[in-house]
Amino acid sequence: HNYSKDDIRSMVKDEDVKFLRLMFTDLFGTIKNVEVPITQLDKLLDNKLMFDGSSIEGFVRIEESDMYLYPDLSTWMIFPWSTDRGKIARVICQVYRPNGEPYAADPRNNLIRVLGDMKKAGFTSFNIGPEPEFFLFKMNENGEPTLHLNDKGSYFDMAPMDLGENCRREIVLTLEEMGFDVEAAHHEVAPGQHEIDFKYADALAAADNIQTFKLVVKTVARKYGLYATFMPKPLSGINGSGMHLNMSLFNDKGNTFYDENGELQISQEAYYFLGGLLKHARSFTAVCNPIVNSYKRLVPGYEAPVYVAWSGSNRSPLIRIPSARGNSTRLELRSVDPTANPYLAIACVLEAGLDGLRNKIEPEHSIDRNIYRMDAEERQKSHITNLPDTLHNALKDLSADETMKKALGEHLYNSFIEAKNLEYDSYRTQVSGWERDQYLEKY
Ligand code: ADP
Ligand code: MG
Ligand code: MG
Ligand code: MG
Ligand code: MG
Repeated sequence: HNYSKDDIRSMVKDEDVKFLRLMFTDLFGTIKNVEVPITQLDKLLDNKLMFDGSSIEGFVRIEESDMYLYPDLSTWMIFPWSTDRGKIARVICQVYRPNGEPYAADPRNNLIRVLGDMKKAGFTSFNIGPEPEFFLFKMNENGEPTLHLNDKGSYFDMAPMDLGENCRREIVLTLEEMGFDVEAAHHEVAPGQHEIDFKYADALAAADNIQTFKLVVKTVARKYGLYATFMPKPLSGINGSGMHLNMSLFNDKGNTFYDENGELQISQEAYYFLGGLLKHARSFTAVCNPIVNSYKRLVPGYEAPVYVAWSGSNRSPLIRIPSARGNSTRLELRSVDPTANPYLAIACVLEAGLDGLRNKIEPEHSIDRNIYRMDAEERQKSHITNLPDTLHNALKDLSADETMKKALGEHLYNSFIEAKNLEYDSYRTQVSGWERDQYLEKY
């Protein structure tokens, strides 16, 4: 929506909005909220609302702690769950420095910058259709998550009406009330696991939607006494949660990935974009799979990708080209998980694709057989490499890739690598239950 300041003022009046939630996202993808009473509305609309940025992850420089929040009025939305003291509205903001420059450490500002480069290259929008998955766990009396799943269902199960199904249905209804175009919602392969797909949107709106989506899922689940988690692999031995990203690049004539005369009816642009994605796949993994636990999902046997390859027909590789054509022609990147900061992840995959277009990078041949049945030698012959197997190795690849540095900008690139190396070190120096089980008595 293209709301004007006056539209906002009248909605506030008509709907009796009492509080404003000013949202932005930190380095780790966590949604941050500054909540102010409605008396601050005029200040906000005039870009005069200040906050202290010094305690925000990734906003490291103390001398710049005074920041401004500039609202993006197109993201204005009144939450459907109102309190008895009046309604709460939210607006997504961009972080600005006192000198009026967009703050480079704000992931949303960075995505806007990369989208500007895309426009200079002649495209109008980078469309993203995410497929987020999550688990619903039961909560205990104290409102804390347990490891008890809510059901024993599986993919497309017609489970008897249970809590999880009802909860998912209410999530969908809430999303629709908030303007989401929900295309599908279904039980996933693992027990307690669900997927909700909403219609693709231009990159910035898609990233905003992903953030809002997570908030809605967690909020509604709580009402049902359930805890929703986007942790990629909460339980070993069953599938983890991913967030496939479907992507396509449009110009003023439509979807540039479609060519009715092309091989597989895919355009040369799509092949170059794909070439760029494959070239940088190992280095954007740290951003698309940013936590230690992400790598417990990227293992063979659970439908998650492990190898860098693409296919027009089967679902095992990193990148799949779904069969839909015309405006739905798209590349599906299957490695991403929902802990990725969507602004950073989308900036990285876009920059990778643009690199492919600029430098005419041809992808390797497609792999149309099951990669998991190939041995190491066969994979090598087909030029199939592995995705990084740990956060540590993923960070090494990210650290060596200039294109990814360009995608994130110097500030975000450096602070991401630094923060994630610390996270990995903290993990590496812990002794786990698995180790004691294996070794304590044996040695
Ligand atoms: P899958 O077959 O992998 O389960 P889904 O049907 O769950 O795929 O999700 C497909 C996603 O792709 C949806 O979010 C949809 O809106 C999105 N999509 C469709 N067309 C495009 C396009 N041209 N560009 C990007 N995303 C698209
Ligand atoms: Mg799906
Ligand atoms: Mg589907
Ligand atoms: Mg799925
Ligand atoms: Mg998919």
